[in-house]
Amino acid sequence: MKYKIMTPGPTMVRENVRLARSLECTNPDLDEEFVDFYKETCRLLSDCLHTPNETYILGGEGILGLEAACASLTEHGDKVLVLDNGIYGNGFADFVSMYGGVPTLYTAPYDEAIDLVKLREYLVDNHDFKYATIVHCDTPSGMLNPAEDISILLHEYNIMTVVDSVSAMFGEPLDVSRGKFDIVCGGSQKALSAPPGLTFVNVSPQAMKTMEERNTPIASFYANILVFKNYYEEKWFPYTMPISDIYGLRAAIDNFVNDTDCYERHAKVAKYTRNRLIESGLKLYGKNGYSNTVTAVCVPDGFGANEILRTLREKYGIMIAGSFGVFENKLLRIGHMGEGANMDDVTRTVDALLEIIGQTN
Ligand SMILES: *Cc1c(COP(=O)(O)O)cnc(C)c1O
Repeated sequence: MKYKIMTPGPTMVRENVRLARSLECTNPDLDEEFVDFYKETCRLLSDCLHTPNETYILGGEGILGLEAACASLTEHGDKVLVLDNGIYGNGFADFVSMYGGVPTLYTAPYDEAIDLVKLREYLVDNHDFKYATIVHCDTPSGMLNPAEDISILLHEYNIMTVVDSVSAMFGEPLDVSRGKFDIVCGGSQKALSAPPGLTFVNVSPQAMKTMEERNTPIASFYANILVFKNYYEEKWFPYTMPISDIYGLRAAIDNFVNDTDCYERHAKVAKYTRNRLIESGLKLYGKNGYSNTVTAVCVPDGFGANEILRTLREKYGIMIAGSFGVFENKLLRIGHMGEGANMDDVTRTVDALLEIIGQTN
């Protein structure tokens, strides 16, 4: 059965992306034309993110980007501020500890975006950190943080920033230069709407310099960003690049570049989704910070999340997501990002959901 995929990633994949993945392959280790193609694709990603900083596409799913950022920056005993107002936010502490860093959690309510005034107050007496981690959209709750403003504030205290924008970028406007992000991570399978399998990291000169000037070597090879540094000059990749995945990613980037009202459309479908759910008496999760890429709604009383999800799949052929961790069985999530960010698909999805729970307005 072919489902309509309205989950907050992986998302539906357009035909031209699928076709690009079936193009004839060369040997990506030896063919210099591929090195140029890779570099051009990285350049395009940087352009889309409004930064001259280098982007590197890594063969691995979104999580690899987050781990690579922490592995590459963290040395034993480094103090790292972990902004925690969601499950991914909290999860960064594990990557920091794994590579010998000392995470300090700044835990804020999960149902609000990070409050800049309160964060500023906290930083006055607590700013001895090498870097901080920020989650742009914390997907399990659909919480959107003002990542650029947070990063600008942290830079006032010379704290570098690692930003997980995996489920926001390409659906939410993102200006890496304005935000002064040091490392920002994205994934192929969210708003870009390519299949899962690739992550990309955009790296500031300061982050690169920090990696080069480490006292101890990076305790990883696969999650080491520094090994990519001279790939173009040396025409050499640290490991064989997944060429078909990158062909597909390139087609997805081209789709984004040619999509002139992408952000407006994401905002419109997200607003429509939220309004329909609220008007039907459902409760959105969170007091503010609603992302334009995913909407999290509370499971209505008298229903189980799994039962709703199953009926949506089996009776309507639509797949949305539940949530996990502290939100398990409490939230349903409609992804309206990338290929799913269109009025037809969100209307069908919301109609079906409301029919199942007996609300038909
Ligand atoms: C999807 C996502 C990732 C990548 O990990 P998955 O294994 O694909 O879930 C990382 N961070 C965020 C915020 C995400 O939404």
